[in-house]
Amino acid sequence: MVEIPPFFHSFEHDAPFQTCLTCERVFHEISDPYTVTKVFKGPECVFEYAMCLPCRQDMAASFSEDSRRRISEFFESSSHLKTRSQELGNSQDYQDWTKHCATCRLPSSEIIDYSIACMGLGHTMIYDPFPMMICSDCEQKVQERLSKSTRDQWDKFIFDHFEGPPADALKPDGVPILV
Ligand SMILES: [Zn+2]
Ligand SMILES: [Zn+2]
Repeated sequence: MVEIPPFFHSFEHDAPFQTCLTCERVFHEISDPYTVTKVFKGPECVFEYAMCLPCRQDMAASFSEDSRRRISEFFESSSHLKTRSQELGNSQDYQDWTKHCATCRLPSSEIIDYSIACMGLGHTMIYDPFPMMICSDCEQKVQERLSKSTRDQWDKFIFDHFEGPPADALKPDGVPILV
């Protein structure tokens, strides 16, 4: 069992994420896993949140069917996503899992803007396919596959859950969608 490393802690609070953004349940009091997502523009963490799996599934289920199909087609078309699981199978070092873009395999040394995500259960990490890093080019490709209604819905979700305008601050590409 590996504890969530500081890389996936909240930058804002300088501590591990404690609660779900949506339902506000406390992670170490529930038996559901959760994901942590952090978006970087260069060295700066510009956006972050953690969400329990049921809320994440509710969110995904609310996206249009077209968007969901196109998102899963994108991830299924990535051969790297299939092979990395075999390559990294036993590693519990998050750096092994985040040293390449999970979908296009570009090395992190050649990437400027990116997102990272991990899955946790209580205080510990759950591996495969998380943790992962996705480059901003691949995020953009996912973003382009969304229907307008899904994009609008995601923007509204961000607006409802965050103070200030992170969605605007991150334009032109907006906040990478939950995948
Ligand atoms: Zn929740
Ligand atoms: Zn990529």
